[in-house]
Amino acid sequence: MGAGRFDLHVHTTASDGTWSPARVVGEAARLGLAGVGITDHDTVAGVPEALAAGERAGIRVVPGIELGSEYGGEEVHVLGYFIDPGHPRLAGILTWLQEVRWRRLDRMVERVAELGLPVSRQRVAELAAGGTPGRPHLARAMVEAGYVGSVEEAFDRYLERGRPGYVPRPHLSPSDAVRVIRQAGGCAVLAHPGLLRDDGVIAELVGAGLGGIEARYPKHRPEQVEEYGRLGRRLGLIVTGGSDFHGPGVGPPAWLGEVTVPADVVEALAHRARGGGGDSGEERREGGRTGPTA
Ligand code: AMP
Ligand code: FE
Ligand code: FE
Ligand code: ZN
Repeated sequence: MGAGRFDLHVHTTASDGTWSPARVVGEAARLGLAGVGITDHDTVAGVPEALAAGERAGIRVVPGIELGSEYGGEEVHVLGYFIDPGHPRLAGILTWLQEVRWRRLDRMVERVAELGLPVSRQRVAELAAGGTPGRPHLARAMVEAGYVGSVEEAFDRYLERGRPGYVPRPHLSPSDAVRVIRQAGGCAVLAHPGLLRDDGVIAELVGAGLGGIEARYPKHRPEQVEEYGRLGRRLGLIVTGGSDFHGPGVGPPAWLGEVTVPADVVEALAHRARGGGGDSGEERREGGRTGPTA
């Protein structure tokens, strides 16, 4: 793994990861990483604990987020680095997203009950406690109830888009996700572009102020890492990477610290978040504004 390396894509119990922020940071230090980016889905709730743990362990914690959005019927994930976790506009959007997610999860609990697979709403809420409620928490409850052998099987059979337990939820647009990250003082990075069916969104996001692209990702084939690295350099984007670690046995098949970038990538993200690198910073100066994003 080498000294001076950063894993910039990590989840915790603040969203659908199974390790607490302090544990993630402690393990990162033990593994010899120079730092980690904490990128929970639609929340910054894990950032304060992670920052404190980083100070104790002597490694750098990059405050981050992974915002879900939708474009052309598929999910587009946008990472935000060096955001201000207390930014009012960001906080307002995150509160709305959490409410929408709880309502949707309740409807999915009803839906799987109709399929003859009742799970306790309270148990799902316990599994999601303190975090961003999502399908993984319902999937874990279904595993506990013995309906499926694994979270993966719960998704494959019931919870994926197009499966009988799936309920859609409202999303931001990817451009809105980029803009709110910039307004909150962060640098926006397109997550795992190799998972997109349609790359067409990339040009639009560059127009909205995208700062980087995640080329190094566990599910990217070596030629995709090359391809997105080249594309990023051509578009003037910072080329990033991370493991998307969610805890043992959950999420992509990579361990914490298995996909990393060197410190100069982190410096470039910090610089661009502050308004450097061709970014006028204008969007951020009007950051306190509360109105429609678009
Ligand atoms: P939600 O936030 O409710 O839309 O659920 C999306 C989350 O579920 C993602 O962040 C992944 O962590 C997880 N996920 C998505 N697809 C799968 C799958 N096929 N198997 C296991 N986990 C998945
Ligand atoms: Fe996840
Ligand atoms: Fe993602
Ligand atoms: Zn992720």
